[in-house]
Amino acid sequence: MNDPVPAPLAGAALWTVVAAERAGGRCECRGECGNPHRKDGGTCRREQRPGRPLHLAPSTNVSDTKAATLPGDQLMALCPPCHDGLLRTRRRDREQTIRQSAGTDALF
Ligand SMILES: [Zn+2]
Ligand SMILES: [Zn+2]
Repeated sequence: MNDPVPAPLAGAALWTVVAAERAGGRCECRGECGNPHRKDGGTCRREQRPGRPLHLAPSTNVSDTKAATLPGDQLMALCPPCHDGLLRTRRRDREQTIRQSAGTDALF
């Protein structure tokens, strides 16, 4: 009796499914990084190169702990510049949310 062994959800297996198989080695950014990618029709489509692999990032703004548990269909494959841009944009969004709720508290 051989039960099928589920693939590990972290690391190389997940990366292969998302970045190599689904994305085909191309960046899936559609402006999430803050760059509208207008000259490429709104999608980055930069291809990964040896030594510059795609990064996986959650498609929604979740915490890093939550991100580590997400399945492949909730992850995007991003080239290094888009990945950096996305992290920067999201950090700013989170700080803004914190500031806004602090401002609301001060008002009332
Ligand atoms: Zn990109
Ligand atoms: Zn991008």
